[in-house]
Order: sequence, then C-alpha cells, then structure tokens
Amino acid sequence: MLASRTSADSSDTLLEILKRRVASDGPLTIAQYMDTCLGDPDHGYYTTRDPFGADGDFITAPEISQIFGELIGLWCAVVWQNMGAPKPIKLIELGPGRGTLMADALRAALRVPDFIEAAQVHLVETSPVLRQMQRERLETSGKTPHWHGSLDEVPEGAAIIIANEFLDALPVRQYERRGEDWFERCVRVSKKGKLEFCSSSKPLKTSEILPQTIHENAQDGDMVEIRPHSDKIAETIAARAQDTPTAALLIDYGHETTTPGETLQAVMAHGFVDPLEKPGEADLTAHVDFAQLGDSARRHGLQVHGSLPQGEFLLALGLKERCERLIADTDNDTREKISSGAMRLADPAQMGDLFKVMALTSNGLTPPPFTSTLASEQD
Ligand code: SAH
Repeated sequence: MLASRTSADSSDTLLEILKRRVASDGPLTIAQYMDTCLGDPDHGYYTTRDPFGADGDFITAPEISQIFGELIGLWCAVVWQNMGAPKPIKLIELGPGRGTLMADALRAALRVPDFIEAAQVHLVETSPVLRQMQRERLETSGKTPHWHGSLDEVPEGAAIIIANEFLDALPVRQYERRGEDWFERCVRVSKKGKLEFCSSSKPLKTSEILPQTIHENAQDGDMVEIRPHSDKIAETIAARAQDTPTAALLIDYGHETTTPGETLQAVMAHGFVDPLEKPGEADLTAHVDFAQLGDSARRHGLQVHGSLPQGEFLLALGLKERCERLIADTDNDTREKISSGAMRLADPAQMGDLFKVMALTSNGLTPPPFTSTLASEQD
C-alpha cells in the first residue's frame, strides 16, 4: 500500500526497523507510523496475516452476517439500473478482506442476471495473504477478479465502488493546538529504548495543514486528525465520475461531524492495546470523519448522500425481512445465530450507530435509501 520499503533485513523486527528509522530521520509522523505498521512489505500487519474472525483480532460486518453482503449486492444492482444499466459495469471493492462481502454480494445479485452478466470484479488490495484468500473465496462466484494496488490503477469506465472498514486503515496525521499554533504529534524513541509520542519541535503553518473551519472550532490543547488519503480517494472517484456513471458506498466507524479528539486505536485479539506497544502485530486504525470526507468529495464535484447510521441503512434495505426469510426453515441454534448477527449490525448499542454509511455519486444519481432531500441538505 502506502508503506515505504525499508532497506532492513527481513529478519529484523518492525520495532527495530522503526527505531533505526527514527535514529536516522528523526521522529515519525503518526501517518508514517501507521503506514509502516500496517503495510510494511515484510512485517506489516495486513501484509502478513489474516486478522479476521473469532480467532483473529477483530470481526467485521460481512464476517458477522451474510445479510450484510447480500443487501449490498442488491444495492449495487439497483444503482446499476438507476445508472441506465451500463455494460460493462466495474464492481470495485476497496480492501476486500477475506472476500466475503463480494462473494455474498455476487450471490445475491444473481437475482438481477443482466447486472451479473455486465459486472467485472476489481479488487483493490495490497496484502498478498488476503489476495490469496479472496481468490479462494471467489472461486465459485462465476467471476474472475482483477487485482490492483490502488484505485488509480483500475481502468476507466462506469463503476460501483464499495468499501467496508477500508478508510479507517488509511493513515491519519494528528495536530495539537497550542495557543494560535499547531504542532504535529509524532513518534520517537525514549531514553529507555521504547517508542513514545512527542510533538514536532516547530509549529506548522495552519493554512497548509488544516481547513480554516477546523482551526476556528478548536480550543487550546485540542487534537485534530486529518486523513490525506481519503481526500485522494474522493478525488479519484470524482475523476471517474466526470466522464462515466459512478457510485461509491463507504461504510466505516466514525463520526458525522468534525469534533476535536484523537481516535488512534490498536486492537489485538478483540481487545484494545497500546498503539506503540506491538508495532505490526496489532490492527491500527482511526475513526473516519465523515464530515471531512463529505466536504472533500463535494469540493471535487461529487454528490454526497448521507451519512446515515449503518442500522438505519440496513433496515431500510430490508435487513429484517431478509433475516426472517433466512430463519424460516432452520433449527433453533441456527435461528439464534442468524438473528443475533443481524441484530449486531443494526442495534444502535452495537454496530448500528457507530458505523456510518455514505454514498458518493456522479451527478443525477440518488442511490437507495438516500433521498434527494437528504443529499441536498448536506449541500
Ligand atoms: N472489507 C473487509 C476488510 C476490512 S480490513 C471486511 O469488511 O471484512 C481492511 C482491508 O483493507 C484489508 O483487506 C487490508 O488488507 C486492506 N487495505 C488496508 N490498507 C490498504 C490500502 N492502502 N490499499 C489497499 N488495501 C488496503
């Protein structure tokens, strides 16, 4: 992905590589740290393992319930029809994990045979381990996926782009306000040889790092996060949308409005750990700021729909009805498993509220369940 190659021997630990880098180049920004921990070619978290599932570090919506991918598959088919049924249509997934969402989506969309016939599957994935899992998972889907290292590499043409828990893995930069000045939060090596947080030694020019509104709304001592790569993704989607029908569905945990605070977190074996403790061995993420994402998408000329809480989105697409059909002819145990999975996705106390859904489209498209009023309210 975005991680730069280190010249280090691959038998080194990531901690040693990071320490040497700090010794030669000075403190790392949080974005450089995240980038290396997640994407280092030899030791990166995603490059070296399958992190999902009960035995892994965390679990995602498509791994919790097949209904998630199924509803998204039908969403894609409806959006394609709204686009005027272009052929071919590129079905692009960013960060497909084990390939489960795409497999469930393709299976559900078989109900719209013309869509399935027109669909070409493109997967944007940097991890060789996960690419292999995706290949296996999609073997029986009837589609041969094409893999790419970034969205820029996907050939042009009408496209529907989906991304679940992809943006949160993109590196953030953190800035702290002190008086009228902003300092960048960095990572250095302490006297005891441990990684620790520090601040850039000199203040940075506000106009070069932050939107003016963020500066104005922040108080002395506040920390804010900026995710430069999500702006780049919005720009790439907008470039595609200028010439061809394009819709993107972005789902992630995060907030609807920009509020100061830091959200960098590390997760291992389904629990939180210190983000500096085990570089490359824990999942490192930060919440998605949907307000910043929407602003940047609008600036690049896209139509922005939502965000909506995930629970509301899934219920509007038919989560409850699909769940009832699935459990109709099953035994008690299976029924309980299917119902509790569906509930976990939609319940506001579980994933229903924390996760948000935003659609970015070319002009004139209003994907379900967003209404044009919702889209224009944000304009
Ligand atoms: N969407 C999946 C997986 C989410 S985890 C699910 O819901 O289960 C994040 C995924 O994004 C992983 O597949 C990871 O390898 C991939 N990834 C992370 N950073 C990436 C980058 N910069 N470019 C491409 N893929 C990336």
